[in-house]
Amino acid sequence: MAKEKFVVVGAGPVGSLAALYAAQRGHDVEIYELRGDLRDPSTTPLNFTKSINLALSERGINAMRHSDSDKLIDHVFASVIPMRGRMIHGRKPSGETYEESQDYDIHGRTIFAVDRADLNKRLLDILEAMPNVRFFFNHKLTGANFKQHKAWFETHGQTDHPGRAEEIEVDFNFLIGADGAHSAVRYHLMKYVRMDYEQKYIDTLWCEFTINPKIGAVSRDTKSKFAISPNHLHIWPGKKFMFIAIPSEDGSFTCTLFLPNAYFAELETESSKLPAFFDHHFAGVTSLISPTDLISQFKANPHLPLISIKCKPYHFSSSAVILGDAAHAMVPFYGQGMNAGLEDVRVLFSILDKYSTLESNNPIDPEPLDAAYQRTLALAEYSTLRTLDAHAINDLALQNYVEMRASVLSPTYRLRKYMEEL
Ligand code: FAD
Repeated sequence: MAKEKFVVVGAGPVGSLAALYAAQRGHDVEIYELRGDLRDPSTTPLNFTKSINLALSERGINAMRHSDSDKLIDHVFASVIPMRGRMIHGRKPSGETYEESQDYDIHGRTIFAVDRADLNKRLLDILEAMPNVRFFFNHKLTGANFKQHKAWFETHGQTDHPGRAEEIEVDFNFLIGADGAHSAVRYHLMKYVRMDYEQKYIDTLWCEFTINPKIGAVSRDTKSKFAISPNHLHIWPGKKFMFIAIPSEDGSFTCTLFLPNAYFAELETESSKLPAFFDHHFAGVTSLISPTDLISQFKANPHLPLISIKCKPYHFSSSAVILGDAAHAMVPFYGQGMNAGLEDVRVLFSILDKYSTLESNNPIDPEPLDAAYQRTLALAEYSTLRTLDAHAINDLALQNYVEMRASVLSPTYRLRKYMEEL
C-alpha cells in the first residue's frame, strides 16, 4: 500500500483501533480528539460517568487480534472477566429471592467484562509509541471539504493565547470519522453524498450505579471480593424496565438502571421512593447497594438517553468513511455497539488491503492502480457490505431489550432452554 496521510477523528475505542490498523500499514496517521487525553485524570470522561464496563465478545476480540498487536490482546486479556451466562434475579411467590444462571453457550464459551476506559488507554499507549502517529487532543472537527481533502478543527489554548479558540486547517488523503453518535464527520459527509439517515430515541433513559467490593475481601485474586457471582452478567428483569450489573476487576460491579422517561421523572421528583421501588422490582439489590447510596448515586450520576442510528452509505469517493457509533449507534441491549465498531475496522482494512494490490487490466503491462482509485472501489464495497450487517445488528439490539427485561422470565423461554439442553 502506498504511504498516505490518514486523519482519524475521534480517539474512542473505534478511532484508536482504526489508527492502529492504518499506522501498521505504514501511513502517516494524525488523530484529532475533541476531549483531552483520556489518560490525564483531569479529562472529563465520556458521558460524564466514571467508566462503562462493557461486554466484549468474539466480534470485537477478533478485530483486536487482526491488529497484530500482541501488546493489545495480552493487555486486554490480563484484566477481563469471563461471563459465562446471565444470572436472572427475582422473587418467588413466597417472597424469597432467587438467582437463576442461564449459560450463553453449551460449550462453555464466554463473553468478557472489560473496562472501556482501560481498553481505550491501552490503545492510546500503543499508538503513542509508534513513530508515524501524532495526537491532537482538544481539537474539535468543525468543517470538512471532502472534495479538496481538507478539514478544519477548533482548538483551545494551544498557543500563546490559552483559552482563545483558534481554527486550524488540515490536509489529508483519507479521513476516518469515528467521532461517536453525534458525529460531526457524518454531518459534513451528508453535504457530499446522498445519505439516507434515520435516528430514533427510545423511551428509556439509563443511569449508572456501583455495587462495592465485599468488605474484608482477603486478596485481589480471590472471588471473595465479589458480592455476587463475578462470572455472570446479572439481570433484574422488571418487564417494562431492568437493572443490570457487570463485574469489574476490583470486585465492584458497574450497574445500569434502564427505565422509561416517565418513571425517571417521577423518581427524580421523589427520590426517597427509590429504595421501595427497587425492593418491589429488583429483588435483593438494596442488600447490595444501601438505600442511602442508591439515592445519592441516582442523584449524582447523569440520566442519559439511548439513541439508535442507521444511515447509508458510509463513505464519499476515496476521501472519507465513518465507523463505529458515527455510522451505526445502537441501543446497548445486545452488548454489540463497540464490538461492531471494532469489527468495522477489521472489515474496512481487509477490503482496503484487497484493493491495494489491484492492477490495471492491461494484459501486456499491468500496473498498480492509483491509490485513490483503489480506495474508491474499496469504500464502495465496504459501504454496501457493512450497511446490511450494521442495520441488522441495530435491529437485534432493539429486540434484545424485550428479551432481557421480560422474555428471560417467560415459561416459553424456559421451555425452549430446557429442550435445548436435552
Ligand atoms: P465513542 O466511544 O463515542 O468515541 C467517539 C470519540 O470522538 C470521543 O472520544 C469523542 O470525544 C470524540 N469526538 C466527538 N465529536 C468530535 C469532534 N467534533 N471532533 C473530534 N472528536 C470528536 N458496546 C459493546 O460492545 N458492549 C457493551 O456491553 C456495551 N454497553 C453499553 C452500555 C451503555 C450504557 C452504553 C451507552 C453503550 C454501550 N455500548 C456497548 C456501546 C459502546 O459504548 C459504543 O458503541 C462505543 O463506545 C462506540 O465507540 P466509538 O469509538 O465509535 O465512539
